[in-house]
Amino acid sequence: MSLIVQKYGGTSVGTVERIQAVAEKVARGHRLGDKLVVAVSAMSGETNRLIGLAREIDAQPSMREMDVLVSTGEQVTIALLCMALNKLGIEARSYTGGQVRILTDNAHGKARIKEIDGHRIEGDLDAGRVVVVAGFQGSDEDGNITTLGRGGSDTTAVALAAALNADECQIYTDVDGVYTTDPRVVSRAQRLDKITFDEMLEMASQGSKILQIRSVEFAGKYNVPLRVMSSFEEGPGTLISLEDDDQMEKAVVSGIAFNRDEAKLTIRGIPDQPGVAYKVLGAISAANIEIDVIVQNVAKDNSATITFTVHRNDLSQAETLLKQIAEDLGAEEIDADDQIAKVSIVGVGMRSHAGVAATMFEALANENINIQLITTSEIKTTVVIEERYLELAVRALHSGFGLDAPSTDQA
Ligand code: ADP
Ligand code: ASP
Ligand code: MG
Repeated sequence: MSLIVQKYGGTSVGTVERIQAVAEKVARGHRLGDKLVVAVSAMSGETNRLIGLAREIDAQPSMREMDVLVSTGEQVTIALLCMALNKLGIEARSYTGGQVRILTDNAHGKARIKEIDGHRIEGDLDAGRVVVVAGFQGSDEDGNITTLGRGGSDTTAVALAAALNADECQIYTDVDGVYTTDPRVVSRAQRLDKITFDEMLEMASQGSKILQIRSVEFAGKYNVPLRVMSSFEEGPGTLISLEDDDQMEKAVVSGIAFNRDEAKLTIRGIPDQPGVAYKVLGAISAANIEIDVIVQNVAKDNSATITFTVHRNDLSQAETLLKQIAEDLGAEEIDADDQIAKVSIVGVGMRSHAGVAATMFEALANENINIQLITTSEIKTTVVIEERYLELAVRALHSGFGLDAPSTDQA
């Protein structure tokens, strides 16, 4: 008998019919003898709708009340799924995050899970029930409702799997696995049978929104076998696991990730002396603004230029701060640009292969795409380019690294 945690995303529970289809799927697993814990998202579009309602009242509502509001989406789907299971003759119980006692810190809107009390769930499983848990939410030490950040139901599922020592955590979604890149952008993207935690973490952090970053961190930390699968069709999906043993056969680049969430700031003509980078970037960090890519250069006249990227939502605050810093340092000028995009190639094979970055630059050069910034880690190379070339760049890299599926054209 296996203990499996399943997670169904917004599209998979987007209508009553789809919830009934999920119930059928869960019922089949239950009848085969598996112990099942199911985490669900809100119906697709619901979280955005709730955020919209709040914004009609206040552009910056209280984060505590925001969590009370947005957590309701998942409360609807857990109840409906249990009703659908009951209707199929399966005993099932729904729990909100707070009822399970998914204890989080009190960072409303981006809370982190500290602890999960598995007793209540284990009791239900032992009594032969299916347990359905609201994704995306928990409660803090004082009983306040908290949420885990957008896409947070993935993290609920993985954390439940870790706490209950589950045999596998299955993420059911609207694609049949993790692809070499977003199949909505590259139609010839291919499903990967396997991907390592490290690669998936880079893909997620560089913009692939298929899994919330924290869910992958959690799965890696607690070694939870994680599988991404389709809610709508049968298939093996993609297994996310520790390092592959069949490295030799692996492609050097496993996938291409991208995002349009960032903006670029540049400060020119600052003194090239100790403490300047700290003065510029320290002030930005002190305002709680996350900095991503950073590049510094020194010109012939010994003046320095620092360029860095921040989330687009933080651009105007960062620009205001940078203007002040520029004045203090007597800088020549500052520049802000939100028409940028970030594209990354990711693969553990890059550790042992030379020339991978050069192949990337060649593919972009062939399309006449200018590279603004470059940054690398052991298993990824990232470039910042002009936003309007993003899709072209992703396609060029996808074919440049031999990731395109064979053409199905009948020509
Ligand atoms: P859910 O609502 O089930 O959580 P999401 O919308 O969060 O689903 O994630 C699934 C979507 O992720 C897919 O529809 C796909 O467009 C997108 N996606 C982005 N990158 C990838 C990738 N590398 N492989 C597969 N899907 C991806
Ligand atoms: N409903 C939440 C969201 O839309 C959480 C999730 O779907 O994972 O972000
Ligand atoms: Mg998601």
